[in-house]
Amino acid sequence: MLDWSVVFGRAVVAVLQFRYFAGATDKPMDFHCLGTAGYHPNRSRHTSCYCVPQCGLVLDAGTGLFRLTELIETDHLDILISHAHLDHIAGLTFLLDVLHCRSVAGRPVDQVRVFGEAAKLDAIQTHLFADLIFPAPLDVQWVPIDETPEFSAAGATVSWRRQPHPGGSVAYRLDWPAVASCQAKRLVYATDTSGLTDPQDIAWFGGDSDMAGGLPADSGVGAAASVPDLMVHECYFRDTHRQWAEKTGHSWTSRIAELAALIRPQRLLLTHINPLDESVDPVDSEKIRKTFYGELMIAQDGLKVSF
Ligand SMILES: [Zn+2]
Ligand SMILES: [Zn+2]
Repeated sequence: MLDWSVVFGRAVVAVLQFRYFAGATDKPMDFHCLGTAGYHPNRSRHTSCYCVPQCGLVLDAGTGLFRLTELIETDHLDILISHAHLDHIAGLTFLLDVLHCRSVAGRPVDQVRVFGEAAKLDAIQTHLFADLIFPAPLDVQWVPIDETPEFSAAGATVSWRRQPHPGGSVAYRLDWPAVASCQAKRLVYATDTSGLTDPQDIAWFGGDSDMAGGLPADSGVGAAASVPDLMVHECYFRDTHRQWAEKTGHSWTSRIAELAALIRPQRLLLTHINPLDESVDPVDSEKIRKTFYGELMIAQDGLKVSF
C-alpha cells in the first residue's frame, strides 16, 4: 500500500532540492578556493575556506571566508565545518561583515546554517564567541549532525564520515540529483586527516572497494554509487615528512597517491597546503601522477574549479 506521507515527503525534498539547485541547471558547478593553507596564512594563502556559490555551500570557515562576500549568489548559506581547529573556524567571526555588506547591497542573506559535530559546535559557541573574544552575537542556526548520518544541505544529500585527526574531524560527501539538463554530481571534501583507506571508506567515497581489499558481506555500504566528480583532499606534507604527518593526523604525498588510485575521482584538488612551503609544487605531485590519470590540481587562493 502507498504510504502517502513518504510520497509527500519525497516530493517536498525534490521541490526544495530544485529550489536550491535551480540556478545551476544548465552550467557546471564552480568550486571556489577562498583559503587553501593549513594552520596559518602566508603571503599567498589564507586558511581553509571553499564555496560553491550556485547552491550556497561553504566548506569550512578559516580566514579565507572574508572573500565570500562578492561570490554569494543565494539568499541562504549552508556552512559545513570539518572540525573546530582555528584554521577552519576563525572566519566565522567575519560573517558579520559579510552579511552586513550583502544587506547594504540590497541582496541580503536570510538564512545561515552551520553544520558540524555537536561537540565542535559547542566549543565554537563557548570559546570563539565568548564575550571576551568576540563580543557580538551571530545570527546563524547551529545544526549538529551526530544523529543524522545523512541530511540535506545546499540542495544536496550530504553524508559524513569520521576521520583520524587530533580531536577528530569529518569528511563530507555531497550528492546533487540530476535536474533538467544537469547531470547528478558528487563532491567529496576530506581535510585534516591522515587518510581513510579501509574498503568501507573507499566505497563511501565512490571508489573501488575490491581494489582496497574487498568489503565484508555485512558491511552495509552497498555498491558504490559513483566516483566523485570532484574530490578535494588535504595534502599537508611531502613524503620526506611522513612521520610528522602521522604524528599530527595529516596526509602525505604517497598516501594521496594510494587513495587516488583506489577512488579514481574525475578531478582531484589537493588542499590544506603547508604554509611554510611556498614552492610551486609543495606536494611532489609527480609521484601522484604515476598512479592517478585524472585531472590533478594543487589548490591556490582564487582558483575556481568547474565540475
Ligand atoms: Zn587544518
Ligand atoms: Zn585540524
